[in-house]
Amino acid sequence: NADAAMYHTKRSGRNGYHFFEASMNVNAHNQLQWLQDLRLALERNEFLLHYQPKYNSPNGPVLGAEALLRWQHPVHGLVGPDEFIGLAERSGLIVPIGAWVLDEACRQMKTWYDIGHEDWKIAVNLSALQFAQIDLIDLVKETLARHDLPARCLTLEVTESTAMHDAESSLKTLQQIADLGVDISIDDFGTGYSSLLYLKRLPANELKIDRGFVRDLSDGNDDAAIISAIVALGRTLNLRIVAEGVETTKQQTFLTSVGCDALQGYLMGRPMPPDKFIEATSNLVKNTAHTS
Ligand code: C2E
Ligand code: MG
Ligand code: MG
Ligand code: MG
Repeated sequence: NADAAMYHTKRSGRNGYHFFEASMNVNAHNQLQWLQDLRLALERNEFLLHYQPKYNSPNGPVLGAEALLRWQHPVHGLVGPDEFIGLAERSGLIVPIGAWVLDEACRQMKTWYDIGHEDWKIAVNLSALQFAQIDLIDLVKETLARHDLPARCLTLEVTESTAMHDAESSLKTLQQIADLGVDISIDDFGTGYSSLLYLKRLPANELKIDRGFVRDLSDGNDDAAIISAIVALGRTLNLRIVAEGVETTKQQTFLTSVGCDALQGYLMGRPMPPDKFIEATSNLVKNTAHTS
């Protein structure tokens, strides 16, 4: 059977990460296999979280971290979320997986809290399907209680398009989240179609400027103007502005100069396993202290 042969070859291939994406579209059998793998991944304990620091710009203290999902696949190694979140969403598996992410991120945040990082916030990404679950609020409440973690230590990130979809019902959900005392961050901002009227009503605390604008940033182009406009908008609406995907000092300097409140990106810190996080972030604070 040709499919099976192709399947076997590809599964055994070395550059699993790149092949993975292609396989999901090209080969139905593979897609089914990936789905089966994904179904088992939770009980096999194959998921893990990496944490990327958020910094107060420019060299300020760590504000907390964003939890980013990874899958340690038995054959393909470490797989990033862009490769499987879509499948997880389409299959509904994102709901139990997302509950695991929330639980694990809160558990980790609690250990940081207990060693003195009481002012940190852990940010967890919510998918559209999770956001639409009717027991989302209970899940968040129960998870915080299970770990004895104050609500203010949790931020939920929803993309602009998720927040804008079915605006009235989203508003209700966001308001319930806000009522718990949990922060709300609007992720990938600038890629959706926000109505300003709706944005004004959102009980959000933070806007994250989409990485695309930061990536294409160079002096005097449209992206610089768009970023300045988003910052001005955020100011008006009393929102904290976070720039994500900061890779160069030039980007950092620009973003700080236009008034971004926080920065996140490879320049300051890559997503990393939790055991590296404290050391990596406290080194940076130490270095800063030496130079100032
Ligand atoms: P996002 O929430 O916008 O997360 C930011 C992404 O940008 C992360 O990719 C992060 O590793 C990457 N990034 C951060 N700094 C830089 C940089 O300086 N340069 C570049 N090139 N990239 C940078 P990652 O971890 O692959 O996650 C991709 C997306 O997958 C996330 O985008 C989020 O939408 C989704 N995702 C991640 N974890 C979860 C999760 O637990 N649940 C759900 N529903 N979605 C998740
Ligand atoms: Mg995010
Ligand atoms: Mg984003
Ligand atoms: Mg994104």
